[in-house]
Amino acid sequence: PTDLNSLANEYLRLAYHGLRAKDKSFNARLVTEFDPNLGLIPVVAQDIGRVLLNLFNNAFYAVSEKQKRVGDDYQPEVMVSTRRTDYAIEICVHDNGIGISQTVLDKIYQPFFTTKPTGQGTGLGLSLSYDIITKGHGGELTVQTEEGKFAEFIIKFPLPA
Ligand code: ADP
Ligand code: MG
Repeated sequence: PTDLNSLANEYLRLAYHGLRAKDKSFNARLVTEFDPNLGLIPVVAQDIGRVLLNLFNNAFYAVSEKQKRVGDDYQPEVMVSTRRTDYAIEICVHDNGIGISQTVLDKIYQPFFTTKPTGQGTGLGLSLSYDIITKGHGGELTVQTEEGKFAEFIIKFPLPA
């Protein structure tokens, strides 16, 4: 049984401070909205931690790329929220970065697909995450995006009826 709110919060800060340690000029607003009634969820915490870390790093990368393109008028933001519905537990990771074009979107879950420069991405994060969430936990991983504006990844764990 895992407290997904704490897990998400810890990994979010870990990812952010890791990036800031390497690049002091990197800055992003972190917004969290954690459902206090989420409860404990039976997941493999290490695996879900890995999935979240990749989503956070992808989000930070997307906002830093956008910052390079648009400059000072831009406030980079990464938002993480959780909620419990009658049927599922959801974790949502939203960034207001570069977004994902349709051509890229078609390939994001393919192993080794990356748009990042050599050394900055293996292209394995989302492919692995997809397997961990779907095959490993019977859940869903979906994405919504608008190119140039935002990307939002949503993890859903179904609750037993
Ligand atoms: P990697 O991060 O090593 O490139 P991933 O599997 O994590 O591999 O992501 C694959 C690709 O999906 C990225 O290279 C990028 O093109 C795209 N992508 C993933 N997340 C985002 C995001 N939040 N915003 C924009 N593009 C994204
Ligand atoms: Mg990645």
